[in-house]
Amino acid sequence: MSIRRYSCAFIAALAVLSTSLPASAQEKLRVLATFSILGDFVKNVGGDRVEVSTLVGPNSDAHVYSPAPADAKKVAAAKVVITNGLGFEGWMARLVRASGSKANPVVATKGIKPRKQAAHGHSHGHSHDNTDPHAWQSVANAKVYVTNILAALIAADPAGRATYEANAKAYLEKLDALDKEVREAVATIPQERRRIITSHDAFGYFQAAYGIEFVAPQGVSTESEASARDVGRIITQIKRQKIPAVFLENVTDPRLIQRIAAESGAKVGGQLYSDALTDEKGAAPTYIDMIRHNIKQLTSALGTS
Ligand SMILES: [Zn+2]
Repeated sequence: MSIRRYSCAFIAALAVLSTSLPASAQEKLRVLATFSILGDFVKNVGGDRVEVSTLVGPNSDAHVYSPAPADAKKVAAAKVVITNGLGFEGWMARLVRASGSKANPVVATKGIKPRKQAAHGHSHGHSHDNTDPHAWQSVANAKVYVTNILAALIAADPAGRATYEANAKAYLEKLDALDKEVREAVATIPQERRRIITSHDAFGYFQAAYGIEFVAPQGVSTESEASARDVGRIITQIKRQKIPAVFLENVTDPRLIQRIAAESGAKVGGQLYSDALTDEKGAAPTYIDMIRHNIKQLTSALGTS
């Protein structure tokens, strides 16, 4: 046997060996999440064993996202693809087809009871699905996301089970503490002041879980603009119900809310993070930071002290 042949056999043996090593010893599990909030959940469960990328980045609006050719490559390269579902990523099915990926996207909201948009929303005659995709705005739902992501990572990388389970357990405990924090903060706001305006209807699950009422001129998607009638109705409602504050969102055009504030006399209470995290330098680089930021904005605008 020549030396060259011998070394080939040796390399082949090494290759066989390396595939049986745990993921941490070789390549990380490549996970693609459709948007920043999901990406953060995956990081918390996957830890060092996963390499997470996202399609819709910080401060960007996933409702109206249009995928670039590079995104098809990202999908094709991922072993696990995590989506929100509930109609949030209307562009995703086509992107997966275009990528040629065999990965079956995981729906992180599986098991969550979908909320339908309240009847006061769209009034412009055409019919469309009014399922509210923003399930992550309730921390109890975030725990369902985490549990679904845990199952998906274990299925793709069974050798990592113990790590993923330990990471998920630690993160779920943090989410329990966060949920309690939100409830305690809302309890400090007088009942009659628990009502605000945002630009799009992204806080329905938050409202159902924590009892602050959100009213929005735009529906559950940012795709369609608010009509003049919707805006007029909101201004009347602010005046009639003495709604204390209107809020900007990081993914929507601020002009609509600024106009409503000017015409109604309500104050702009600050900016809420609805559908996207901020980058590392911003106020909400993680899901937990996002919820804390939002609740701080709400209590300072609605609280009386
Ligand atoms: Zn939204």
